[in-house]
Amino acid sequence: MKALLLVDIQNGFCPGGNLAVEDGNAVVTVANHLIEKGDYDLVIASQDWHPPGHGSFASAHPGKAPFDMGELAGKPQVMWPDHCIQNTPDAAFHPDLRTDAIDYVQRKGMDPMVDSYSAFRDNDRSARTGLDDWMRAQDIDTLDVMGLATDFCVKFTALDAREMLPGVTVRLIADGCRGISADGVAEALTALRQAGIAVIDSKDA
Ligand SMILES: [Zn+2]
Repeated sequence: MKALLLVDIQNGFCPGGNLAVEDGNAVVTVANHLIEKGDYDLVIASQDWHPPGHGSFASAHPGKAPFDMGELAGKPQVMWPDHCIQNTPDAAFHPDLRTDAIDYVQRKGMDPMVDSYSAFRDNDRSARTGLDDWMRAQDIDTLDVMGLATDFCVKFTALDAREMLPGVTVRLIADGCRGISADGVAEALTALRQAGIAVIDSKDA
């Protein structure tokens, strides 16, 4: 089975959202094109889904401003603006995304005490979301990952897929991703390649 994993293609990460990634909405066209090409047996989407007052929000840490470094669950944590709060428009998938084609949605970031960049497990690597078990049950052999943002949720999702799904070919669709910082994107792509993840263009997917 060949699967496409769409990471956090939500209003919150697109222009106008609370944690907008520059040009983030551009990935919607790439996702829809890949879906409509029909080469994927399964389309999976992750959704950042925070309770109000989540510990990754600067607003939950007195004296911290968005994008400061802070600490959460004993680890360094970027203090984010409030974003993707459950049941708000900011947390909804981008309205142009072909959500009708999504077979499975994996929500993450519900535990207020730890952040979850990866769709597979929390940042402290203890609690798993269960997505790996679900994927194993589907007999997936190739997993293409794309979405927002390259240097955070896409990176950690792809790295966890590589580690937690041995035997599955994991590829990153580079033109289907946008990142928060250019340096962060460059570092992410290096880390992904070093982990054995092919970085490809959507036309080669
Ligand atoms: Zn988040």
